[in-house]
Amino acid sequence: MKKFIFLLFLVGCGYSHSEDLTPITYEPLYISLWHDGIPLFVSSDASDPTIVVTATKWWNDQTGLELFNSGTSNKVYIVKDSSKVAEDKEGISEFISENGNLICKIFVTSYRIGLIKHELGHCLGFQHSSNSDNIMLPEAPDYGTISQQMILDLQTDFK
Ligand SMILES: [Zn+2]
Repeated sequence: MKKFIFLLFLVGCGYSHSEDLTPITYEPLYISLWHDGIPLFVSSDASDPTIVVTATKWWNDQTGLELFNSGTSNKVYIVKDSSKVAEDKEGISEFISENGNLICKIFVTSYRIGLIKHELGHCLGFQHSSNSDNIMLPEAPDYGTISQQMILDLQTDFK
């Protein structure tokens, strides 16, 4: 069977010296991506999967939703591959369509907890935030939080 893969969009993340932050004026913009519901199955090549488990559990605990579980066809792949990430970034998320299914693919330079939480946020549909303590800051801080508006956005879309 012929396999069609196309790139929907890319988001580069992590520490950057070339990128200026926009003023702190907005909440992360949420895009509804998953037509058959948000829950996402995450698979990863992590040699120590506890970071990925910690990050998915964090999203679930913070939102009170079961966003990440195994009983779904919506998929997230996390791969450590620095060659896919720009030199001044730590991670990148891309959405591809594979045999009609939307897949979120994450490439990282390391399994840093803030970075994994942040990239999972992109897979859920969040863009970058400029709010000082938000997990969706481009720097993907380990201490980053989820705002009430983000929880409301997810609750609205959660199935
Ligand atoms: Zn990002």
